[in-house]
Amino acid sequence: MAEERTQWNVAQLLKEPIGATRNFDVQASVLQQESDVTQAAPLAGQVSMLRTNLGVLVQGVLTGPVTVACTRCLKPVTLHVTVELEEEFKPTVDVVRGSYVPVDEEDTALLIDEHHVLDISEVLRQAVLLEVPIQVLCRPDCAGLCQTCGQDLNEGTCDCPDEESDARWEQLSALLDDIEL
Ligand SMILES: [Zn+2]
Ligand SMILES: [Zn+2]
Repeated sequence: MAEERTQWNVAQLLKEPIGATRNFDVQASVLQQESDVTQAAPLAGQVSMLRTNLGVLVQGVLTGPVTVACTRCLKPVTLHVTVELEEEFKPTVDVVRGSYVPVDEEDTALLIDEHHVLDISEVLRQAVLLEVPIQVLCRPDCAGLCQTCGQDLNEGTCDCPDEESDARWEQLSALLDDIEL
């Protein structure tokens, strides 16, 4: 069973020559419990770290289940996502001299902190969210919810008048068309 973690102290790796590597089997939980997308279980996969001339190149592939609401009926739907990471993290402190390194990195998620801790949780979180489609259906023909009473139309029809065939609605909409003209 791989260890659940998203942070590593890379001080030793940063002292090694360019090309030095580390490989980890990881499990990672990166989504907040209260967000629209939640993790049904940790992501699992491999992460490798390569010492580059500028910092540490992190590459990895992680997969795992995430849960989102059906776009039409809001029932939870579990999707399996696969995330590929390839990001270069840069140090903010020189590991040998202990002095601050000037950084012009816009993305602070890609900075190794002053204690030489490299944290992949934010880039992983963003990568997972990118893998979730905007439209998720619990089944291709999901009937959705009634707009008026909220009844799940997959489980049966409600007593609300069908607006599209309601004569009064048609009159109103004809009236609105006239106003627009
Ligand atoms: Zn649905
Ligand atoms: Zn209804």
